[in-house]
Amino acid sequence: MNVPLLDLVAQHQGIKDTVLPAVMSVIERQGFIMGPEVGQLETQVARLSGARHGIACASGTDALLLPLRTLAMQPGDEVIAPAFTFFATAGAIHNAGGRPVFVDIEPGSFNVDPAAVEAAITPRTRAIVLVHLFGQMANVEALAALARKHGLMLVEDAAQAIGARRKVDGTWRVAGELGTVGSFSFFPTKNLGAWGDGGMMVAQDDALADRLRRERLHGGSKEYFHDEVGLNSRLDSIQAAVLLAKLPYLADWGVRRRAIAALYDAAFSGVEGVTPPPVEAANEHIFHQYTVRAERRDDLLAHLKARGIGHKVYYPLALHMQPCFAYVGVGRGALPHTERAADEVVSLPIYPELTSAQIDAVIAAVRDFYQG
Ligand SMILES: *Cc1c(COP(=O)(O)O)cnc(C)c1O
Repeated sequence: MNVPLLDLVAQHQGIKDTVLPAVMSVIERQGFIMGPEVGQLETQVARLSGARHGIACASGTDALLLPLRTLAMQPGDEVIAPAFTFFATAGAIHNAGGRPVFVDIEPGSFNVDPAAVEAAITPRTRAIVLVHLFGQMANVEALAALARKHGLMLVEDAAQAIGARRKVDGTWRVAGELGTVGSFSFFPTKNLGAWGDGGMMVAQDDALADRLRRERLHGGSKEYFHDEVGLNSRLDSIQAAVLLAKLPYLADWGVRRRAIAALYDAAFSGVEGVTPPPVEAANEHIFHQYTVRAERRDDLLAHLKARGIGHKVYYPLALHMQPCFAYVGVGRGALPHTERAADEVVSLPIYPELTSAQIDAVIAAVRDFYQG
């Protein structure tokens, strides 16, 4: 049986009767830029993220770049970030004029280690970027405390974590709520995906939100008058309409992803050689990815391929070892948990439309590999 890593066509079949009319209304109106859908989506994503403001933009990458650009970094200014993440986390730091300072992860959650962040703070540090990797929140409360203590911006890269929650002192906190800025991506394969590129920043601070609203529109507070140079980074009204139509499904999709993860966890706990992803007791994971550690990982990849089981290694080469970041001067061996994760992980199909037969096929393929 063929099981794709993700099946967006299956999702579309289930929801097209609600999404297509929403898109058609934008087309009939021919109102493609900054239509009312954008503001509505901003309000709803801000509410979902426990934030006062939502500011839509053109991609998740820009949702990281725009807040970092407000720091007006000078050569040598540093931004601390994990090296085990998608490239955009560090690309945005570089493109905002900062120097990425890569730190290690905690081996269980794959998320950045707050102690490593603290040890990396210098007088040149301007910001910390955390990543809620694979849909499980990082220790945002520890990092927010560090950021406060040192007067740093804290950017939450929540591209994979929309709606993820974490109990802090007995209260649920949502991805995007506790950072200076939370950055979301609506790339089509994310848990809430558009029909193209899209992103969103959320923030609590009124002045910063106003600044970000200007920065995404060429830096002008009023059309044709510019105090600073910004970007052209808007979310199209069509994309906003798609996302507004999909948003009501997001919570149920999350429940289904967690249920599938529980089935995988139960099946793999009895298989020597594969380790299910540990979820911290404080966290509600949204399982953007279901990422296991696997012994003889590369042989497993070949086996899954032969069996038609979708899979992908997120991420095979840590960022401190990318040729473009050689200038940062951190080589192999510097971040052992990160490097080990890159060698051991593989992500398996997890999306709401998976059938039980498909789930069984994934489980059987992994089991057969280790138990012959
Ligand atoms: C997807 C992703 C981004 C970038 O989002 P785009 O919308 O593709 O620009 C940034 N960080 C992480 C962790 C991501 O997964």
